[in-house]
Amino acid sequence: MLTIFEGVPDQEGMLDRYRTWCEQNPHGYILNVRGGGAPPMLHRTKCSHVFPARPEYGDFTKKPKVCSTDRREVEGWSSQHGHAPVLCSSCDV
Ligand SMILES: [Zn+2]
Repeated sequence: MLTIFEGVPDQEGMLDRYRTWCEQNPHGYILNVRGGGAPPMLHRTKCSHVFPARPEYGDFTKKPKVCSTDRREVEGWSSQHGHAPVLCSSCDV
């Protein structure tokens, strides 16, 4: 099942809910949606780019995080929204 975390981090505990998802789905996939026409980047949950969501990244969920345990589902979402994802080179996704 896809879960999308998007919004101001304080709003409805957005950032906390994102963190909880990560802790509950350590083997999942996270698509980091980027602005400016850049293709989104696909990560494993435990990639240091997306986990933990550090407090200094106050705007962490302003850019949507599309999360699922099913890689195909995340890649499908990405393609439907205009881009095949770029694979992160840090987390061996
Ligand atoms: Zn990564």
